[in-house]
Amino acid sequence: MNTLTKAFAAYNPTDELKPYEFHRRVPREDDVQIEILYCGVCHSDLHQVRNEWGGSLYPMVPGHEIIGRVVQVGSKVTKFRKGDLAGVGVFVDSCRKCPNCLNNYENYCDEGMTGTYNGYERDGKTLAQGGYSTQIVVQENYVFHIRDNGNLAAIAPLLCAGITTYSPLRYAQVSPGMKVAVLGLGGLGHMGVKFAVSFGAEVTVISHSPSKKADALWLGAHDFLLGSDTAAMTARRNYFDVILDTVSANHDLEKYLNLLRLHGKLLLVGLPAEQPALNPFTLITNRRSIIGSMIGGLKETQEMLDYCAANHITADVEVIPMQQINNAYERLLKNDVRYRFVIDLASLKK
Ligand code: NAP
Ligand code: ZN
Ligand code: ZN
Repeated sequence: MNTLTKAFAAYNPTDELKPYEFHRRVPREDDVQIEILYCGVCHSDLHQVRNEWGGSLYPMVPGHEIIGRVVQVGSKVTKFRKGDLAGVGVFVDSCRKCPNCLNNYENYCDEGMTGTYNGYERDGKTLAQGGYSTQIVVQENYVFHIRDNGNLAAIAPLLCAGITTYSPLRYAQVSPGMKVAVLGLGGLGHMGVKFAVSFGAEVTVISHSPSKKADALWLGAHDFLLGSDTAAMTARRNYFDVILDTVSANHDLEKYLNLLRLHGKLLLVGLPAEQPALNPFTLITNRRSIIGSMIGGLKETQEMLDYCAANHITADVEVIPMQQINNAYERLLKNDVRYRFVIDLASLKK
């Protein structure tokens, strides 16, 4: 069994990603070995490669929006067969016994989920490595079925950008008649627009990029607000039931909280490096709340994938070869992506 894996890795926070080779573990009896076809490029990859959250581990093979094909299954695997399409998201294991794990919230495991990369596997010493690579080996319960066999590159981002926006919108019970704003039209934001529209809400994109207005409307949003347009922002005070904040850079939360009406919720998923400033008076007004949300559990992720397959929802992607990753990071920082880069791993197998 071939465990040799070709990849691209970050070796430190400042240099470009470069080729890297390592061995995946030999599949255990309950493992699935997957040949990776596509892997999305999440802004979290960039934050971690550059150590913006602290504690990054190198060499780091990023990537947690993985789509591939099963090439081998362990003797006790029951959910997958060789040849099946498979997805792997932001985590590859968890303790499997805490109340959260037992209640389908493995993403909130009391012991901490085992990230797909930039952390240690549960043995405490093997560095987990992600999807900018030719293959991955994962315990079968942490692998998802891909029932849509259309454009696989456009399905890959559902494994992080998709579930990270689907889960909080479901938690906030977004439904017809509700007014939802999506803050930041990037990889997560564009999926947030698609889901909120699909759930029947009136959707507004709030962006700092005037050039994204046409895209926002094309994606199904009903309105577009430029964050810097003070008059337009003032006109929307006390208006929204829900704001989904996907912004990757430091920003002023106050400005957006003021747009929430009675019992309005700011769903926070973006992870800038700096802590936001908060005025308690803004929160007590209209009894507003801020709710953080991290990806989704195994059950909800499969539900989201099946929902997308049934409702023809995928990401808008630009497919790149692995060798263009450093350029893609620079473009991501400049907001120059419509709306997710996805790596075609065939480029590493040649
Ligand atoms: P992305 O594609 O780069 O999109 C981020 C968007 O933020 C940009 O498109 C831009 O939208 C806005 N933005 C960027 N710089 C800005 C600035 N200086 N001021 C105001 N707005 C700015 O990133 P992504 O992959 O969607 O990820 C977004 C964030 O979510 C990242 O911090 C990531 O780490 C985090 N994340 C969290 C989870 C979770 O579980 N909670 C999961 C995945 C990712 P406009 O041009 O429209 O303003
Ligand atoms: Zn991600
Ligand atoms: Zn647990």
